Amino acid sequence: MLVDLTRAPLSDSFSRPITYLRVSVTDKCNLRCVYCMPEGGLPWLQRGEMLTDDEIVDIVKAAATAGFRAVRLTGGEPLLRPNLDRLVAQIARIPGIDDVALSTNGLLLEEQLLALRAAGLSRVNVSLDTLREDRFAAIARRPGLDRVLRGIDAALGAGATPVKINCVVMRGVNDDEIEAFAELTRDRNVFVRFIELMPVRENLDLQSESYVSSDEILKRVGEIGALQPVPGPPGNGPARYFAFASGRGAVGVISPLSHDYCDRCNRVRLTADGRLRLCLFGDQAIDLRSPLRAGASGEDLAALLRSAMLIKPERHHLRLGEASSRMRAFSEIGG
Ligand code: SAM
Repeated sequence: MLVDLTRAPLSDSFSRPITYLRVSVTDKCNLRCVYCMPEGGLPWLQRGEMLTDDEIVDIVKAAATAGFRAVRLTGGEPLLRPNLDRLVAQIARIPGIDDVALSTNGLLLEEQLLALRAAGLSRVNVSLDTLREDRFAAIARRPGLDRVLRGIDAALGAGATPVKINCVVMRGVNDDEIEAFAELTRDRNVFVRFIELMPVRENLDLQSESYVSSDEILKRVGEIGALQPVPGPPGNGPARYFAFASGRGAVGVISPLSHDYCDRCNRVRLTADGRLRLCLFGDQAIDLRSPLRAGASGEDLAALLRSAMLIKPERHHLRLGEASSRMRAFSEIGG
C-alpha cells in the first residue's frame, strides 16, 4: 500500500509531534511593556525585510504539507499589520490547517474582531497584566486599559472562545492583583493564565528582582478559594489549569522556569522576516525567506521545514536573570 508521506505527522529528533506554528506578522508594537521592550522601541525591520502576505501563505502551505495543523498569529502586535483579516482568510483556507488563533494586546481588538472572525479566526489570547488604569500606563508605558477590556468583551460576545487572558506576574509591580485576576474566572468563561517572567537581554535586572514562581501564584490563588486541577481548554498550550468549585473559567500557570514543559513542546516560530526559530530560548533557526525569494517550490520549503526538526533542541536552558539566547525581546521573534 502506498503511504502518503506528506500527511505523516511531523516530529523532531526527540519524537515530539510538532504541529503548531506561531507566525509573527510584525515586530512592531503599540505598547512598550517594561519587561518586554525599551521605551524607545527596538531597531525595527524594514518593509522589504518582512515577509509579504503571499510569502507567509506560501510558508504556511508548506508547513501544512509538512504536518503542521495549527497556526497562531503573533508579533509584535499582530493587529498593527494592515489587512490582517485578509491574511487570516488565506491561512484559514489552507488544507490541513485546522485552527487559526491570535495573540494580541487587545488595544485594536474591538474594531477588528468581527472581520477577523468572518475571515476564519477561531480564538484569541489577550495579554493583560493589570486591571488598574494607572498601573496599565506604568507597565505598558501607554494608556488603554478600557480598550483592552472592551476587546475582551467583544471576543467573548463574538464567541471567539476560549478567551485566554495572559498575565505576566511581577513582584512589587502587579502581584497584588493575582487574586483579582483569579476572581474573573468565577463568573466569566475566561482562562486567566499567569506567566512567569522570563529573562531576555532587555529585562535581566527586572526579571531577577521581580520573578514570582507559579507555585507561589497558585498558593495565593488557593487562599481565596479551593482549586481543583482541570483539563483546560483544547489548544496547544503549555499551561496547567485549575478551577474554583463552580467557576465558569479557570486559572492557568505557565511556568517555563520553575516547571519546564520542554518534553511537551509542540511548536516552532516563524519570525516576521522569515526565519524559522526552533526554540523560544535558543538561537537555532533556519532562513526560509532567502530560498523562498530565490524561487523555492512548496515541496522544497516543506523539505526544509522537515529537516529543521533535526536542530530543534531538547530543552531550553533558562535561568533566573540570565538570557539564554541573543534575543533582546519576544517581539523580535513572536512571543
Ligand atoms: N502583542 C501580542 C500580545 O500582547 O499578546 C503578541 C506578542 S507578546 C510578545 C506575547 C506575550 O509575550 C504577551 O503575553 C507578553 O506579555 C509576553 N511576554 C513578553 N515578554 C515576556 C517576558 N520577558 N516574560 C514573559 N512573558 C513575556
